[in-house]
Amino acid sequence: MKSLQNNESKIINGKNYSRNFLIDISNLAKSFESLSNRKPCLAVILVGDNDASKIYVKNKVLTAQKTNIKSIEILLPNEISEVDLLNEINRFNNDDKVDAILVQLPLPNHIQVKKIVNSISPNKDVDGFHPQNFGNLMLGNETVVPCTPLGCWYMLKKELKDLTGYHAVIIGRSNIVGKPMQSLLIKENCTVTITHSKTKKLAKITNKADILIAAIGKHEFITSEFIKPKSVIIDVGINRKNKKLVGDVKLEDALNIAKKVTPVPGGVGPMTIACLMYNTVKLAYLRNNIKFKEISL
Ligand code: NAD
Repeated sequence: MKSLQNNESKIINGKNYSRNFLIDISNLAKSFESLSNRKPCLAVILVGDNDASKIYVKNKVLTAQKTNIKSIEILLPNEISEVDLLNEINRFNNDDKVDAILVQLPLPNHIQVKKIVNSISPNKDVDGFHPQNFGNLMLGNETVVPCTPLGCWYMLKKELKDLTGYHAVIIGRSNIVGKPMQSLLIKENCTVTITHSKTKKLAKITNKADILIAAIGKHEFITSEFIKPKSVIIDVGINRKNKKLVGDVKLEDALNIAKKVTPVPGGVGPMTIACLMYNTVKLAYLRNNIKFKEISL
């Protein structure tokens, strides 16, 4: 415990970063309102009874309210058919006063996630998962960037400023985190290595990482042997361990070896929600042909 206290300056405080970012976003939302006579609007669709999803949606809706964003929340039963869910999405696609649509994942097994993601209009795709937006990100074009990687990028830029030449190692190749993160870091002139469950001798690779992004989903998997001294570690994982939330990184080990690390909770989580608000406001501007100035850090 003593070492945790001594190392407090090594913590990357995602809560503080998100609080400041949300002030900027709220101001952008107010400017939008003064130009369009309405607030930016986020529609959130929650299917079924997943307790974790309910908490995530509640947090998103509350943050929207505090950020001068209107939110519409619809709750649908677990047994809803795919066709009925697609109809609900289409209703929002066709509603000119809705700027952004979020379908909370995971969905019940009888619904094909790909079909749902692809049905959201690309210009309302707040998660940036639609193939058109995802493809643009891979091509390095301007687009809607998935919220979690965008939040990780934001904190890295705030901490390191210029990322040029750093070796970044990402653990995890998911469409939600690993792949978009790779594109963002390549654009920042990092040398990027993606690793995953089939990677051999993982520690040998992560040991060379100036920047380590852990998105594995295994509690405290990353211990001392994986960490390069003076590196910066972004811990994306959210795992439950004895009723406590912990990340993919053993915080104590990271604090002893690395230069900086994001904690769980209080790191990537709050930044993900802030970026959801950012994407909502950005889509509102773009859909209404109002000039939008991207964040530049
Ligand atoms: P996922 O299950 O889709 O992907 C996990 C990745 O980890 C896979 O690519 C897999 O190959 C890799 N992996 C698994 N075991 C490994 C091992 N032993 N060695 C190396 N790689 C291994 O998960 P995801 O959606 O990318 O999420 C990852 C974690 O991040 C989860 O804990 C999730 O809850 C969390 N998450 C947090 C936020 C947030 O806002 N903080 C957002 C999204 C995801």
